[in-house]
Amino acid sequence: MRIEIINTGSELLLGTTLNTHGAWMGMELFKLGLRVQRQITVPDGEAINSAMAESMERSDVVIVTGGLGPTSDDITREAAAEVLGVELITDEAALRSIEAFFADRNREMAEDNKKQALNPVGGDILPNPNGTAPGIYTPPRMSGDRLCALFLLPGPPSEMRPMFENEVEPRLRSLAGTNEDHHIQVLRFTGVGESDFHAKLDQELVSIPNLEVGYCARTREVDLRLIGAKASIEQAGQLAINTFPDMCFSQNGESLEEIVVQLLQKQGKTISIAESCTGGLIANRITNVAGASQVFTHGFVSYSNLAKQQLLNVNNATLERHGAVSEATAIEMAEGALANAEADIAISVTGIAGPSGGSEEKPVGTVWIGIATAGSSAAVKKFAPYGRDIFKQAASQDALNLARRSLEQAMA
Ligand code: AMP
Ligand code: MG
Repeated sequence: MRIEIINTGSELLLGTTLNTHGAWMGMELFKLGLRVQRQITVPDGEAINSAMAESMERSDVVIVTGGLGPTSDDITREAAAEVLGVELITDEAALRSIEAFFADRNREMAEDNKKQALNPVGGDILPNPNGTAPGIYTPPRMSGDRLCALFLLPGPPSEMRPMFENEVEPRLRSLAGTNEDHHIQVLRFTGVGESDFHAKLDQELVSIPNLEVGYCARTREVDLRLIGAKASIEQAGQLAINTFPDMCFSQNGESLEEIVVQLLQKQGKTISIAESCTGGLIANRITNVAGASQVFTHGFVSYSNLAKQQLLNVNNATLERHGAVSEATAIEMAEGALANAEADIAISVTGIAGPSGGSEEKPVGTVWIGIATAGSSAAVKKFAPYGRDIFKQAASQDALNLARRSLEQAMA
């Protein structure tokens, strides 16, 4: 089934409103086994008519959002009537429910709101319990040389989303029939790049039948997206895990911080984090996970040397001899975080974000990540010369991954 989405509204193209409808609908439709072929964004005005006419000629379903309000720039209803070649007539039931919407709120209804009850002949009104603009559905009718159904939905997400779930999805289901053998799995990897997938895995994956393979590269992460038949997904997932065994941190789309929290919960352990260059990002990521309070005790943001000494008992001599960005300091930070928080595991990060502060021996991007558990501590060196934002994300990813590997080894 060929589906196109048309998002209308000049604010979407001016950039003052982020167009979230396309992304949200893409995910909703995917759950039904449906895919969006094209998403088009047009400003208010005549562009709506031409976009609708073009999409309807090549689609089975066209979903239009926005422009159902009472103001002069809201003309989607009129555009649809023109493209369909039918008249607009007032739907009495729709008019009464708009009147009731205002009466319930003790508000006077403006004359202009009456136009929201206009319906192209042959259209069904889609009730809107969350606003005044009803939606409209016109069942499949000839458009060019194919049948096309049309949905008009309101712009505000709080009105569009419930209407989509309650009114659009059931109609799409019956238009499309069912597609049982349609699954998705997202495996997430860190410590391996897209080029490694290309070199070691890609050819084998694309030769698996009934499978669509996609990659999404992020900072210190590659997501492998598998769509298709269940058996093909299983075969591909196993192949990917066998090729990069320790690098796959999640098989169901969970984030690295979610995995770390889950591992801590399973083992009944607590974690403490000592951060210098990441400035609290790791603590932020961990506390974004529901249930973090069971496992996360302390986040020390020890940015200066003084803070490292006061909060984490790092020795002045260590800082003077090796510097704040060093193996020795990373280890003492982790040990201090472990002891002061009385946690089961502690992770530390100290590095040079740049743009200044680098040297030949310690260039910008150098990061030391420490780890301490009862009776053992160590640190590893990483390199992330990417500018402050991405540097912080990369360092936090490496630190969380070190925690994950340590927790997994403790279970093995
Ligand atoms: P409209 O009914 O077109 O006047 O839209 C009303 C409001 O809904 C707009 O001012 C936006 O705030 C919001 N809106 C419309 N379209 C979108 C969209 N594609 N994504 C997110 N918000 C939207
Ligand atoms: Mg508008």
